[in-house]
Amino acid sequence: MSHPTPALHAALAAATEDQIVLDLAGIADNLATLRRELPGVAVRFAMKSCPLDAVLACLAERGAGVDAASPREIAQALRAGVPIERIHYGNTVKSDRDLAEAHRLGVRDFATDSPEDVAAVAAHAPGARVFCRLATDGDGALWGLSNKYGCSPADAVRVLAAARDAGLVPNGLSFHVGSQQMTADAWRRALDRTAETMAALRRRGLDVTRVNLGGGLPAVGYTDRHGRPLDPPVDKIFAVIREGLERLVEVGGHPLEFLVEPGRYLVADHGAVRAHVARLTTREQPDGTRQRWLYLSVGKFNGLYEMDQLQYRLVFPAHADTPRLPAVVAGPTCDGDDAFASDGGLVEVPADLASGDPVWVLSCGAYALSYLTQGFNGFRPLPAAWIHGAAPTRREVPGR
Ligand SMILES: *Cc1c(COP(=O)(O)O)cnc(C)c1O
Repeated sequence: MSHPTPALHAALAAATEDQIVLDLAGIADNLATLRRELPGVAVRFAMKSCPLDAVLACLAERGAGVDAASPREIAQALRAGVPIERIHYGNTVKSDRDLAEAHRLGVRDFATDSPEDVAAVAAHAPGARVFCRLATDGDGALWGLSNKYGCSPADAVRVLAAARDAGLVPNGLSFHVGSQQMTADAWRRALDRTAETMAALRRRGLDVTRVNLGGGLPAVGYTDRHGRPLDPPVDKIFAVIREGLERLVEVGGHPLEFLVEPGRYLVADHGAVRAHVARLTTREQPDGTRQRWLYLSVGKFNGLYEMDQLQYRLVFPAHADTPRLPAVVAGPTCDGDDAFASDGGLVEVPADLASGDPVWVLSCGAYALSYLTQGFNGFRPLPAAWIHGAAPTRREVPGR
């Protein structure tokens, strides 16, 4: 299980107001680890997982690119210093206007998964390179992304043949095994499908040169809905991916260009929220039992959206040694879903918590900033801060 780096720990301890803190040094370390595990695979950070300029710049300086999903993301990545040739449009959902704008900004690589989208890309980004997304079942992931995207191997052949006929360059395949994928077998199945599709494409005279492994690589610091460590088999996942890539090169009969689009894996464990206690209460519930509730200043609508599937690990820095009692943990808004999964486990919290006491929420660097609401019930979107080793903390209020 991961722990906050000493630098992140110090930044949380120094914070007197609620905020999310990202540790760029930790994120850069994860990028280095990923490159050691998957040598030669180009990294395209899925920026929706942490759309902060400082994070984009940190990764771009180290040679990573960006998987963007809209013209505004593309424009932000460019402003943060990501070179255009390392930015691709990885969203299969694109309006005509989005396509034209992305093309104007200089993007030349687009994900696709339907003949309708291919026709639109050909019309608004003529001559572009396209990669076709294959569907996956999403099994084994905390958030499967199964039905909305991707096509079958047979449809992929039709889609890429249509792309060629429309004057595009159909040069790749991609997939996404689902976010926080917990099983190595999901990659094995997806890579098998990719190999099968590559062989079918070759029979149609279509030669794929790029394979995009998508996202889904897991964070290591989460606990599940019941508070148990998730403990994903990261080493096994990387081993299965390496084997799969070798198989694809055999099927392809020539060297291939590989890409990976990590989001969560790079940032989740190197971000944490400094929140505070709103109130610890005990109330009789409708079923007659008495239940303790810990209401925090931060919840589902101001940073912790993924509490539907997770219990984030909490640290109570002012109460290291006081007795603990079980409580339901919830956010501050007037919404019943703004709580750690109600069918999940209770959390052991200090019995003497007082309003205003600091609480640190660990491993929430992924998807916190992108899921902030404008201010549900008037609770402020979390300001973001970042550190790099011992460098002083800077702040910005996310201005979107
Ligand atoms: C969201 C997304 C990713 C990143 O997913 P993670 O599970 O955070 O790694 C990668 N690629 C695409 C196309 C995505 O939509």
